[in-house]
Amino acid sequence: MTINASGWRPEIGGSKTEGAATFTGNKGLMLEEALIFEIGDTETTGVDIADTAPAASRLGGLARERSIGLPGLSEPETVRHYTRLSRQNYGIDLGFFPLGSCTMKHNPRLNEKMARLPGFADIHPLQPVDTVQGALGVINELAVWLIKLTGMHGVAMSPKAGAHGELCGILCIKAALDARGEGHRKVILVPESAHGTNPATAAFAGYQVEDIPATPEGRVDTAALKARLGPDVAGVMITNPNTCGLFERDLKEISDAVHAVGGYVYCDGANFNAIVGRVRPGDLGIDAMHINLHKTFSTPHGGGGPGSGPVVLSEALSPFGPLPFTERYEDGHITLVEEESVGDRHPDSFGRMTAFHGQMGMFTRALTYILSHGADGLRQVAEDAVLNANYVLRSLEDVLDAPFAHSGPCMHEALFSDNGMAEGFTTLDIAKGLIDEGFHPMTVYFPLVVHGAMLVEPTETESKAALDQFIGALRSVAERGKAGDPSLKSAPHFAPRARLDETLAARKPVLTWKAPGLPVAAE
Ligand SMILES: *Cc1c(COP(=O)(O)O)cnc(C)c1O
Repeated sequence: MTINASGWRPEIGGSKTEGAATFTGNKGLMLEEALIFEIGDTETTGVDIADTAPAASRLGGLARERSIGLPGLSEPETVRHYTRLSRQNYGIDLGFFPLGSCTMKHNPRLNEKMARLPGFADIHPLQPVDTVQGALGVINELAVWLIKLTGMHGVAMSPKAGAHGELCGILCIKAALDARGEGHRKVILVPESAHGTNPATAAFAGYQVEDIPATPEGRVDTAALKARLGPDVAGVMITNPNTCGLFERDLKEISDAVHAVGGYVYCDGANFNAIVGRVRPGDLGIDAMHINLHKTFSTPHGGGGPGSGPVVLSEALSPFGPLPFTERYEDGHITLVEEESVGDRHPDSFGRMTAFHGQMGMFTRALTYILSHGADGLRQVAEDAVLNANYVLRSLEDVLDAPFAHSGPCMHEALFSDNGMAEGFTTLDIAKGLIDEGFHPMTVYFPLVVHGAMLVEPTETESKAALDQFIGALRSVAERGKAGDPSLKSAPHFAPRARLDETLAARKPVLTWKAPGLPVAAE
């Protein structure tokens, strides 16, 4: 194996294009970076400490037989390795991130400052409740805001992501049905356009999932849904606004019909960003809805979290919500209602979802965001998010097929398809071309109801100038796709790696490094 000074390995090569190759593999200030195992070696160490005196091993047969093989680097080499890697990471602080459904919006720095206050950041979940009254006050005040903004009755704060919140909501529905002696209801209806987490949640909770088709306008087929309702239906899971970027206008009618047959309505509230301050889901007859604090309320996400997915609950489901939760007494004192203190006050709670109370840092960021915007500011968030998405939709519908553009204005996401591309050119090529233009691609191939879907969510935090630049770039790439420009088939040309086998990487991830000449490391 050849490794040069900067760690570039010719056999990886990546996008080192003909004529543009450099000796190092670096492109200007974009630096190649090999694995730390490949640039370090076991003979080098960045620290200088005396050898320890030999001691008798107490490990018996468990003692390691050969050296652990960790790579050694000097301190500056180590710092450079990780700093180079950090530069290969695309994030919302670096550029426009139009990933549909994910609401990649700016995370205000004020949120970060508040979350780092020692009274929130340095506390321990097992501290006596009397010493964390301020933190409990934040959880309680955020809970009150979420209830008010959604027009619901209660909220479970502890779920740690949207999907975790879905599970919480479905477990509330299950507990409510069991309490009524109707645990035999086994079917959850889910529209075709649902986020994959919806059917996964219902199946995980032991339900049979049945699809409900979409209308040609991209909304739930209300007639088909009503026709399927019956005594075996536990509930429905509906995303509103939906993943085609449209508001489900029939939701109240759907809720009434589901309630009439004894079922419950779960709303996937991940798209709350489009309606916050304008629509109260409680008015639409919803029984449970998760809110992704890390989407609508601007707490950071991507790259693995942390998320936070509180679930607002109707009066019918609130008694079944999980522990713990906060309660404020008349004298202002706040307590955390834990399992052991339930007594006969909360006999119906389905139990606990997390070891402690949830994500304190996310709660603090979300409350800071809410208080710094105020009710009027939150309403403007929704209005600007929808305005920006419609600007993107109408600016590109002449060059990209927009399957539901005829259904009227979109909500906070613009949906396109790859219809009309030259023979052999697909959504993947458009996404790869955008990388060369310096943009994180939009969500691709989701929702499944649209061929070669491209879902663009600009969010309200982008300026018109930023949107115009993105629109110009996407227009240019789309025109290349329509003209069948062969160089688009091998894009990206300016990224460290070009077309990787993503399926193989997902199905057979190689998670351990194999030293040359050694047998494959333990899998
Ligand atoms: C993001 C999202 C989810 C899942 O939320 P996580 O926090 O990623 O678990 C569910 N549904 C929709 C529509 C989403 O956009």
